[in-house]
Amino acid sequence: MSENNKENKGGVKKLKLTFAAGTTTVTGANFLLETVPEHGEEPVRMLIDCGMEQGGRDAEVNNRKLFAYDVKTIDYLFVTHAHVDHIGLIPKLIKEGFRGKIFSTVETHKLVPIMFEDSLKLLGHEAGDHGLPELYSADDVKKALELWHDIPYYTCTDLKAGLQVCAKDAGHILGSVMYEFTYNHKNIVFTGDLGNTPTPLLRDTEDITDATYLVMESVYGDRNHEPTDERRSKLEHAIQDAYKKGGALVIPCFSLEKTQVLLFEINELLEQGRIPKCPVYLDSPLAIKVTEIYRERFRAFNEKVKKEMQNGDDVFSFPGLKRINTAEESKALNDMPNPKIIIAGSGMSNGGRVVHHEAHYLPDPRSTLLLIGYQSLGTLGRHIQNGEKFVSIYGNKIPVRANIVTIDGYSSHKDSDHLLEFVANSKDTLKKVFPVMGEPKSALFLAQKIQDNLAIEAYNPKQGESVILEF
Ligand SMILES: [Zn+2]
Repeated sequence: MSENNKENKGGVKKLKLTFAAGTTTVTGANFLLETVPEHGEEPVRMLIDCGMEQGGRDAEVNNRKLFAYDVKTIDYLFVTHAHVDHIGLIPKLIKEGFRGKIFSTVETHKLVPIMFEDSLKLLGHEAGDHGLPELYSADDVKKALELWHDIPYYTCTDLKAGLQVCAKDAGHILGSVMYEFTYNHKNIVFTGDLGNTPTPLLRDTEDITDATYLVMESVYGDRNHEPTDERRSKLEHAIQDAYKKGGALVIPCFSLEKTQVLLFEINELLEQGRIPKCPVYLDSPLAIKVTEIYRERFRAFNEKVKKEMQNGDDVFSFPGLKRINTAEESKALNDMPNPKIIIAGSGMSNGGRVVHHEAHYLPDPRSTLLLIGYQSLGTLGRHIQNGEKFVSIYGNKIPVRANIVTIDGYSSHKDSDHLLEFVANSKDTLKKVFPVMGEPKSALFLAQKIQDNLAIEAYNPKQGESVILEF
């Protein structure tokens, strides 16, 4: 640690930033921001996100390690959005003694209980399968929700010690925000995940033009997405192709955001007569519940979708859509006639119902597996995406003969050029940028790109590293 807790000169104040986790990985975001008091007062301690690491056995082990800081001394936790890699360890934080205030938007607040409920189920299986200790209990989830407070979009809240926090639209998923902490007339912005603006449903990512420090995601720091108009025609072709071949089109899908975007796109393609009608099975109780929240909170969408919803057009529903709730119904989908579309979780095939569909359809050359989300290292989805001829599912060696299609334009993350554009908005005020929440090659590439193109200092911190920032 490079702690430098010296006296305050010339009105300069200091904050200490610790990259606790989610620094050199995409998942598991967890950052600690603390005041550096001048006269021996207690520092104010804030966490930004408390996510679960996802992908493989290492992640399961890492998630069970004790937090690297004293959780009992934390005053606030700010939650950028409801993805598990940003909220998944909040109940564990409670289990270890956190009793501070938790803040998020109303939309995130509505989504977290169903995300936690689903995690509890998955964790139960995981612990049972691998003999791992319980990560947290239903009681920890209940206590976490009791500590929750809402910060509406575009508002600012005063905190202790002259700190102020503002919630800015990140445009990543329903409810997603960036947090801008202002201290001594300067600020530090934590982006959480940054949306792939423009998106079909959400408002655009808010521009930030006066950031002093930036802690930003870098999932796609080293590559660009295909143009947004290409993604829909790729989806259209994947559906038409699957229909012609007479197989199943299986789409492993994140229940939060990606599923709703997919339903929206299929709805539009059907309304425009661009794809043939065929049964679409939404095989995910979690996605079904999340979609209900999306319907309820449609006022947080962009103007176009908001208007459609206000006019009574349900953008997430169309003829042929069937919601599959029970495990028995899910298994029975194997016997339903082709062609058909099955949308099931999890998005990286590291659990969930999609895995049994993959075991069934991957060996079938008439079928297609469509990947529309980021696939973490070590997950089944990544193995399939890498073109492996055989994959292991439930301990069985499964041949991959199905057509594997990736559309990365549906990513809910900004690509490399747009991340740079986002940084460039603050080029006159930025002192330092910290690209994190990406695989090392992406984070390193983005840091280099920021330095080369904008002449702004960019630094890739190590996991657990602390830095002192002047304000
Ligand atoms: Zn996210």
